[in-house]
Amino acid sequence: MKKVDYIIVGDGYAALFFAHQLIKNNKSFYLFSEGKKSASFVSAGIINPAVLKRFTTFWLAQEQIDSLKKTLSEIEGYTHKNYLIEKPILRVFHDEKEKELWLKKSNEISFLSNDFIKINSIKNPFGCGKVNHSARLSVRDFFTDLMNYLEKNSHLIKEKFDYNLVNTENSTYKDIQFKNIIFAEGMAVKENPYFSEIPVEANKGHHLEVKLSEKIEDDFTIKKKHFIFPLNENTYYYGGTYDREQTHHKIDNSAVEKLINALAEFYPNDFEVTQVKFGFRPTVKDRRPIVGAHSEFKNFYVFNGLGARGILNGNYFAINLYNHLENGEEIHPEVDLKRFQ
Ligand SMILES: Cc1cc2nc3c(=O)[nH]c(=O)nc-3n(C[C@H](O)[C@H](O)[C@H](O)COP(=O)(O)OP(=O)(O)OC[C@H]3O[C@@H](n4cnc5c(N)ncnc54)[C@H](O)[C@@H]3O)c2cc1C
Repeated sequence: MKKVDYIIVGDGYAALFFAHQLIKNNKSFYLFSEGKKSASFVSAGIINPAVLKRFTTFWLAQEQIDSLKKTLSEIEGYTHKNYLIEKPILRVFHDEKEKELWLKKSNEISFLSNDFIKINSIKNPFGCGKVNHSARLSVRDFFTDLMNYLEKNSHLIKEKFDYNLVNTENSTYKDIQFKNIIFAEGMAVKENPYFSEIPVEANKGHHLEVKLSEKIEDDFTIKKKHFIFPLNENTYYYGGTYDREQTHHKIDNSAVEKLINALAEFYPNDFEVTQVKFGFRPTVKDRRPIVGAHSEFKNFYVFNGLGARGILNGNYFAINLYNHLENGEEIHPEVDLKRFQ
């Protein structure tokens, strides 16, 4: 029997940020990855402390940004790569009124800069507002490097975790005995017999990869209806959509059409769609993640409901969960699974 401190089920932001806490604190663990592309892997990687519809901010935004920066520099310590792209979000104003509202709100909300910007390569007659402290994560590198690190250090088990093989009495799975198990499966939690009832709902998001005939200057992240930013020399990310209704596992052509039309509205030159991708955000009605222990099996934990902010929520609440398990810290009541019991 192999004995470990933890088993983690999943390989998205929730799982990997929790795995980082275990690496950092020298805990023994195995992480199960079934090898499907997670919602995290298709995410844009945007780190945004502002709400760009209402020009406000949200719960713990500054703490989450500071904590994420610290975590990314810790990860850089063992992967030797920086994943933080410090290019700000520019929000394109629809009209003069929006610009005035932003200016007014910028007096109260430090994330909204009153330093307006005009971009030459897109239509922005009213200019753009800059979001202070916004950035992007280099998503592909982050996942590729962390998964390689886990594999090299014998933490990775590349198979689907089979719930039927758990022995709840001895805390074993096949020939592994664990102290705690963390379920971080995103929307696949619906297949998990211990936590299938948690109130997460799928919100499907599509994005495009496009080749632009003329580059957008300065590698900014630009937001009008959706976000656009460069993935490499020629290819840009454009997305994502939100859809609670169409939850089938196929590309939805109406979402693709919406994206193409929205891009054509503000990008004045030719572009070519080279790829369409989609994923399912695990969302919760009260917009808070779900973290907590099973009511009967006290060493079984769920970490889910990261919503549209997988990176900030994933990192911040992985730390809260780790400190709860190892140092007796309280799980933030706003995210505690107990709020539904
Ligand atoms: C189009 C789109 C764009 C987005 N953009 C952003 C963004 O810019 N910034 C941001 O912060 N967030 C963004 N998000 C949200 C973010 O992606 C989600 O919050 C996040 O992916 C949720 O992470 P997770 O780890 O909970 O789940 P997931 O990413 O879905 O990961 C769960 C993983 O667990 C694996 N798994 C499940 N069951 C098992 C099992 N039994 N055995 C083994 N493995 C299993 C699954 O295969 C999956 O890979 C975006 C989402 C979408 C769809």
